[in-house]
This record gives sequence, structure tokens and C-alpha cells, in this order.
Amino acid sequence: MKTFSGGIEQECARHIFGTYSRFPVAFVRGEGCTLWDDAGKEYLDFLAGIAVCGLGHCHPEVTRAIEEGARQLIHVSNLFYTYPQVELAAELTRLSFADKVFFSNSGAEANEAAIKLARKYSNDHFGSGRFHIISMKDSFHGRTMATLSATGQTKVQKGFEPLVEGFSFVDFNSVEAVEAAVTDKTCAVLLEPVQGEGGLHFPAPGYLKDLKALCRQKKLLLIFDEVQSGLGRTGTLFAYEQEGVSPDIMTLAKALANGLPMGAMLATDEVAQAFTPGSHATTFGGGPLVASAALATLKVISEPDFLEKIRDTGTYLLARFAELKERFSFIKEVRGRGLMVGMELDMPGAQFVTRCLEKGAVINCTHDTVLRFVPPLIAGRAEVNRMAGILEDVFEEESL
Ligand SMILES: *Cc1c(COP(=O)(O)O)cnc(C)c1O
Repeated sequence: MKTFSGGIEQECARHIFGTYSRFPVAFVRGEGCTLWDDAGKEYLDFLAGIAVCGLGHCHPEVTRAIEEGARQLIHVSNLFYTYPQVELAAELTRLSFADKVFFSNSGAEANEAAIKLARKYSNDHFGSGRFHIISMKDSFHGRTMATLSATGQTKVQKGFEPLVEGFSFVDFNSVEAVEAAVTDKTCAVLLEPVQGEGGLHFPAPGYLKDLKALCRQKKLLLIFDEVQSGLGRTGTLFAYEQEGVSPDIMTLAKALANGLPMGAMLATDEVAQAFTPGSHATTFGGGPLVASAALATLKVISEPDFLEKIRDTGTYLLARFAELKERFSFIKEVRGRGLMVGMELDMPGAQFVTRCLEKGAVINCTHDTVLRFVPPLIAGRAEVNRMAGILEDVFEEESL
């Protein structure tokens, strides 16, 4: 490992765009739910690369797929067929509502594709001018121009105006608000079934079902951004399964290839037909190496026993965190499903993230006051107990 005379922080600041505020830690190795920094200190990882490494770090099946894939074929472009891509698409459609898949390289790109598909579908069926998309306040859909325009948080949009036209924002969990926002220009409703970056908000019972009924009535496409909530995170392969409702279009990314960059947009046949040769493309999308890694990942995550264990661990985690809430009055609420859990405080959470890190646990804070726990899906009760113990120490110091 190369070291830098002035330290990695200084070297990074000198050569890399200042787009990230980083914690003063450099990780060099990972295995399962454990990370090690460059000083050899060990950490319990309850962030998983922000809900990415579902199978934990360097999972043997994924590593094997990457090793074999790297020896076999890395890239040929989408001018040709490649076996892992087609096999992965067949698996994703078998396991979901969808009939067709488009592969991208990130969540933002998957959402870009979804926005384009919704516009194109509407244009094909209803003529031009019907391109508005209703999105949610406090949503997050990415950082490209269209996806930041679709994101209901002004902090990601400020300074980049003019935004892409045609997005409006309503309160999450209100079908009435969507209904009131529909105009003759609306073509789709875009939302995360569970809001991640916006502070861990879960759908109220019946909300998504009623939303779908409204979309059917108004001839709008329903788009679920499951970039964060998908692939086992909430204890079912996709979060929508727990709501008894499926979308017309769904996007995936984060956990899809357990850390290699890959995204996907899935849709029903009916909707997918709006894309024809030349409608959309990306050089790297669905290449054989990442597709092989994703196949290995999906194979493990989609096992019913694996999903059941996520639900079990999640239930246990919520019970342990409920105990903490009883003890520490500054915890306002604990909410979660599977291993997607938020702990809302009545003060900023950043200091607790830093103190957890000092004590050897990686978590993060979203929406200022919500501590977010999205551990590897392989975490069990032992890891939950360690996390709860560290939180208890940190919270006790705060209470002194
Ligand atoms: C992370 C995230 C994105 C953006 O994904 P990138 O891969 O960073 O472009 C989009 N939507 C949701 C819900 C996310 O959590």
C-alpha cells in the first residue's frame, strides 16, 4: 500500500474535487460486517457502503464471480449479446413484477432511464406536452440534472438552475396531495416506497395501493425508486411486495452487484415497448463482469431463508433500539423495516456518528437528525448486540 508523506487527507484535498466531506478514516480491508482502517483498527460496519454491500464485504461467492468474470470477459459493449447480462435480466424479471430490464451503472442513471421511459410512453400514447412527473418532498433520486430536478430537496438543486422542467413535489403519504397536483400534463408519479435519504419514512398502510388506483384512474405511470429499499433491505426482495402493489417501472442500484457499480430499470412489457433501438443506451451497462457479480449477489439475497433471517434480525434490532429509546429521552422515534432503520433524535445526529466511529462502529446520519442503520444483510443478533452496546455507551456520555 502506497503511503503519502503529508498523509492521505492532505493528498486527497490536493488532488480530488472537494465534493465529499469525509470522516478522518481510510479503510483498507473488509470482511463480512467488519472493516479495518490503515492503522489496523477494526470497525463494525452498520452502513454497508450506504446500503450497498448487502452480503457484507468481500463475500466469497461474489468475489469468486468477480475473479472468474475478470478472467473470462470484462467488456464488449451492448452491440453484442453476453450471457451474464441475459441471465441476470431473466432472474430479475422472474423475481419481480417486471418483464423487461435496462441496465445502467448507477441509481441516478436508472432513474434517468425511468424518467425518459415515462415521457416516451406518454408521448407515444397521449401525444406531446404530457411530460410532468409528480415526485415527493424530501425524496432523493440522484445527482444528474434530471434526477436532481426530480429530487424534493432544494439543497441538491441550489446553484444548478435552470432545472429540468416538469417536476412538482407533494407530501409523502398523501394520496390527496397527488390527486390535487395532477394536471392534463402529468404522465407519472415517482417515489421511493421507503424514503431513505429523506430520513427513513415508511408508507402508511394502504398508501401505495391507493396511489396505484389513482394512477390507473388518471392514466399515469407509477414509478418506484427502490435503489435503496430494494434487494432484501426491508426484509422482502423488494419493498413493494409488503404493500400488495406493484409499479409500472422500478429502479434498482445500490445493492445489485454488492459494491460493483450497477443499476437497473425494470418495467412491464406494455411500458417497455416505448423504448426501441436508439431510444436509450449506455456503454458500460450490464457488462459481463458486473452482471456476474450481480447474479452471485441475487442468488444469495433472493433465498427465502435469507430474507426471513433479515426480517428476524430486523425485528430483534428494533426491540433492542426500543430499549434505548426507553432510557434516553432525546430519542424521538425508532422506525424500521427489515434492516433499514432510522433513529430520530431531537438534536443533530452528526456528533453521534463521529463518536460511534471513534468507538469502532460505522453508521451515518441523514436528514440532520436521523441516525441511519443499514448494515450488511448478513448481520445477525451478535452484530446487533454490539451495535446497541456501542450506542448505549455513546448515549450515556451524552446524558452525563
Ligand atoms: C442512492 C440513491 C440514488 C442515487 O444512486 P447513485 O448510484 O448514487 O446515482 C437514487 N435513489 C435513491 C432512493 C437512492 O437511495
